[in-house]
Amino acid sequence: MHELSLMESALRIATEHAGSAGATRILSVTLRVGALSGVVPEALQFAFDVLREGTAAAGAELHIQHEPVRARCGCSPGDVFETAGSVCVCPRCSAPTADILSGREMDLVSMEVETP
Ligand SMILES: [Zn+2]
Repeated sequence: MHELSLMESALRIATEHAGSAGATRILSVTLRVGALSGVVPEALQFAFDVLREGTAAAGAELHIQHEPVRARCGCSPGDVFETAGSVCVCPRCSAPTADILSGREMDLVSMEVETP
């Protein structure tokens, strides 16, 4: 379950940010999860619930933004299409494409903190 290690590093980044901002508590954390990242949102939430204990994020909420896959196809190189699924097929020529522009990432997008 690689969600645990992903969440571990996301939480580490979040607590570092909170620390350098002088915040005592993290209220919420927003992550962006690409459709091809292989991350299961339920597993991510579970990892968050486990790992936040004992950190500044102990009472924080987790928000997950789902990012569609953005890709290009050789039949129309100037056009970018989006798909929400994990199979990337060109809507014009129905060919599978490997020219994936985004959708594999998991990023920390934003967070809310409380400062004393
Ligand atoms: Zn095409």
